[in-house]
Amino acid sequence: MKAAVFDGKRITIEEVPKPQLTNSQALVRIKAVGICGTDLAIVKGHLSAPTPLILGHEFAGEVVEVGKDVDSSWIGKRVTSEINSDIDFECFYCKREIFTQCISRKALGIDIDGAFAEFIAVESYLLHEIPEVISFEEATFIEPLAAAFQVFKMMYVDGDDKVIAIFGLGKLGLLICQVAILKGLKIIVVDGSEKKLALAKKFGAKEIINRLKDKNVPKVIQNSTNGLGADIVVDATGNPDALEDVVASCRTRGKLHIKSTHGLATPINLTDIVVRELTLYSSRCGPFEKAIEGLKSGNIKVKELISQEFSLDEIHKAIASYDKNRDHIKTVIKID
Ligand SMILES: [Zn+2]
Repeated sequence: MKAAVFDGKRITIEEVPKPQLTNSQALVRIKAVGICGTDLAIVKGHLSAPTPLILGHEFAGEVVEVGKDVDSSWIGKRVTSEINSDIDFECFYCKREIFTQCISRKALGIDIDGAFAEFIAVESYLLHEIPEVISFEEATFIEPLAAAFQVFKMMYVDGDDKVIAIFGLGKLGLLICQVAILKGLKIIVVDGSEKKLALAKKFGAKEIINRLKDKNVPKVIQNSTNGLGADIVVDATGNPDALEDVVASCRTRGKLHIKSTHGLATPINLTDIVVRELTLYSSRCGPFEKAIEGLKSGNIKVKELISQEFSLDEIHKAIASYDKNRDHIKTVIKID
């Protein structure tokens, strides 16, 4: 099969053997796969990964074959897959049903081969059927949308939490923005792209701040929150330099939620966090069921977040365009 293989320095399109199924796996013919900031962080060397490795973990496709212990009714179904594979079902976290943090877990496209390929073998317990109303391209948003729902699952939101400021309107920031609307929060968004800010406004953000025009973002946020700062501030910038403004924009006793996974050293004013008694939250993978429901119901809109589509052969172009264009939201690789 054709696959995009990362050797630690660069990605090359190669002909590699089709994955051999174990008894518990299903073979998925990949139709669409999104490029994520994590893929980029690995390619740039900011996050380490074993090589050679096929990257890519936001994917959707069709089950074409199953191992002998897997229900054969999966064959022909349109599916997406969770990314935390090789779960032991017996560790401290698994006993508490926190399978995404299993001590044995290996993440698809990060620790083991992923989806920039024609086929992928996945454990059948990771599969989720996608409804007909969700296209394969839209289904590549299920994994990041689940992560956006997880932001609110990990964070205790109380009656005093009325204003949320979201820094960074990449794919994840724009998904978090839409989930925050469902939670009834007033939303302030911060980004350097007028195009992304306009999209957030369309989704329901009440105030947009262009950080390239308003140099003192914390001041602007304080001015629109009775001098207090936002109750919740989410960092989805993927940029360590944003943290100073993120912390300064949060009100005393407020909540900071860190979503960026850029892998870089990050300066953060811990004394300010301690003195003002801020609570620091973080989150990773989330509930796929909620994400699928969000797309199916139409409550969450993702079509407008697809900036470009490429073929697998064009993966270098796809990654380069993701990295360089400020207005760019999401690249989807389509595989026939
Ligand atoms: Zn476990």
